[in-house]
Parts: sequence; C-alpha cells; structure tokens
Amino acid sequence: MNIHEYQGKEVLKQYGVAVPEGKVAFTVDEAVDAAKSLGTSVVVVKAQIHAGGRGKAGGVKVAKSLDEVRAYASDILGKTLITHQTGPEGKEVKRLLIEQGCDIKKEYYVGVVVDRATGRVVMMASEEGGTEIEEVAAATPEKIFKEVIDPAVGLLPFQAQRLAYAINIPKDLVRKAVQFMTALYTAFVDKDCSIAEINPLVVTGDGNVMALDAKLNFDSNALFRHKDIQALRDLDEEDAKEIQASKYDLSYIALDGNIGCMVNGAGLAMATMDIIKYYGGDPANFLDVGGGATKEKVTEAFKIILSDENVKGIFVNIFGGIMRCDVIADGVIAAAREIGLDRPLVVRLEGTNVDLGKQMLNESGLNIVAADSMADGAQKIVALVK
Ligand code: ADP
Ligand code: MG
Repeated sequence: MNIHEYQGKEVLKQYGVAVPEGKVAFTVDEAVDAAKSLGTSVVVVKAQIHAGGRGKAGGVKVAKSLDEVRAYASDILGKTLITHQTGPEGKEVKRLLIEQGCDIKKEYYVGVVVDRATGRVVMMASEEGGTEIEEVAAATPEKIFKEVIDPAVGLLPFQAQRLAYAINIPKDLVRKAVQFMTALYTAFVDKDCSIAEINPLVVTGDGNVMALDAKLNFDSNALFRHKDIQALRDLDEEDAKEIQASKYDLSYIALDGNIGCMVNGAGLAMATMDIIKYYGGDPANFLDVGGGATKEKVTEAFKIILSDENVKGIFVNIFGGIMRCDVIADGVIAAAREIGLDRPLVVRLEGTNVDLGKQMLNESGLNIVAADSMADGAQKIVALVK
C-alpha cells in the first residue's frame, strides 16, 4: 500500500527523521491558511498524488507570497498531472502539501528496500539526488552505494557512516546524516515498509540534514498490525478494479495489455501471463481466484475483468485441484449472463469435475472456444484479439 508524501513525512517524524514543517490542504483557502500559519517567507506548494516526478510535471512550486500560494494552489488543485510514474492518463490532484521553503545546499538520495537477491533489507545512497534514481542506476551505477543490513543487529553506525562518506556528506554533518539513516531504517522495520525512499535528502544552508520528499510503501500482508497506517489509505489513488477485487479477497493486479486472465493459483497465473507474452500477446491483468473460490467470487472476478475497457478477449486457465471446474464454469456462465459476454473467451479446464465443467460451458449457449492445453489456449486467445 502507498501513502502520500505528507503522510509519509508524518510517519517518519515520529521516528526522529527530520522533515520540513508542513500542512495538508484540500482547498485553495486551506492552502493559504496553512501558508500563513507556517509563517515563513517562502513556502512550497506540492501536489499530493501517489506518484513521483511531480516537480518536472509542474506539481511543485515555490511561492514567495500568500498571493503566489493562492495562485499556485488554484492552478495545481484539480489539475491532472502526467508524470513518468502516472502513465499517460495522469492523476488528478485533490490534496496539496504546503511546506516550509528549504534553503537547499545539495540534494542526495537515500532509499531502503527489501532486496530479493540477498534476502535482506538494503540501504542505498547516492550523491545524485533529486534526479530519477533509475537513470543514475542505468548511466552511472558506480554512483550508488549499498549497505546490506543484518536483521539481527539492524543498520550499524559504521554502515551509515560509510554511506555518508561515500556520498560526500560534508564532514561536520556526517553525525546528523547517520542519525537520519538510523531513524529511517527503524521506521522502515517498525512499520513493515517495502520501500522507504527519500529523494531528495538535503543538506541545508543552516546545517541540517532533512527529507524533502518521502515515498513509503507498506507490505499489505503486514497491514493488519498497523491500524494507523491502514487509516492513511486513499482509495482515490487506487485502481477501482483492484479495490473491488480486494473486497472479494481476490488477488488482482491491473496491467496494460488486452487479454484478461482468470487463473487459479499465483504460480499458474504468472505462467499464464508468460505464455501469453510468449505467443505475442499482452495480459490485461494478473488474477488468482484462489484455491477454494466460490461461484460468487468467480462471478465477481469475471465482472472485474470485463469492466476493463482495454480487454479484447479473455483466457480462463484453470487447473482444478481443490478448485472444482464446475464451480468455475458456473461463475463464468453467471457473470456472462449478467453483463453479457461481448468478447472472445477461451477456456482451458483441467482437473476435478472437468467433464461436468466443460459440459456446462458447452450447454450454456455462450460463444466459448475450448482449449486442449495452456499453449493451445494462449495461441487461440492471442489470435482472437489480433
Ligand atoms: P517529485 O520527486 O515528485 O518531483 P519532490 O518532493 O522530490 O517531488 O520535489 C521536487 C523538487 O522540488 C526537489 O528535488 C526539490 O529541489 C524541490 N523541493 C521540494 N520540496 C521543497 C521544499 N520544501 N523547499 C525547497 N525546495 C523543495
Ligand atoms: Mg522526489
């Protein structure tokens, strides 16, 4: 789960990570009031959306007077920002962060991630802050420094120090940078984050080390033990289909292809996406209906797939072990009857009650193309959507 920058900064502040003073605003008047109460001569008006790259897209503006705050706030609120992370459709700005202007001496990058290769939490840092870290990683990977953290002891002071020296933090501020990194790591572990990215971390004119941006992602599987984080969820920022799917406890992730997939089991769902790609198609989603899905769940899953306008065809690939093929058939038929199936549907069923499932589909009057194997089904749906 993602949260907004202003929320991330509030979480980090609880752990002693230095951040500028700031307030969230939902209207232009609230923005002006927030700027007044901050009382600094320079404030920054920042669009709050769940995506980075806002600065380049015109979503971060420095205001030197209350009139400028008003002007920028009315310009940015309600605007659709298109950044490299939003996709071409962009994201509408519904909240602003009004923050103290900061006298930046230099921008750095610090990020904490779970590294699958080492199976550990890794802290990364770079002198190339403010820019996209992906670009730094591609062009000058030697400018990114990493420390692998042993979970038993956490981030050790010498590791944080080594990072601070590697990225050339001014010597007199290394101690503050070490404190910053230690607090960031503690927040990451304590709140079960999957990503904590500070880009930029800045050194200021008055000798401080602070986070000017904050991107926190949380492990959804651990959210049950963080009610405070759950409360920060902003459904406006999430895919409507994914929200609907989560209500029915379906593992669904929207993608940008045109072949809807309904599969049972995460491994088979991944393999199904691979084989569609292999035969030249593009999956519109990942969907695992789970092991013991009910007819209602299958119906809902099918409806979610069909609600995606990009979907030009559907591939149902079910290996029924615990899941019975007749339940799948039942759900597919019910959903197709309810909303009308206007797109090609290829079904590959195998396993428990497969004959009954196939018979139900055949007798349903629906226009279904039967497949004998996964490869056969993938080829058929790719051909049908072309
Ligand atoms: P994004 O990464 O989405 O573009 P950031 O929060 O990183 O948004 O802001 C972009 C840039 O704007 C920063 O790299 C920094 O130079 C400037 N900036 C952001 N917040 C402040 C602030 N409080 N004071 C001064 N400059 C800021
Ligand atoms: Mg940033």
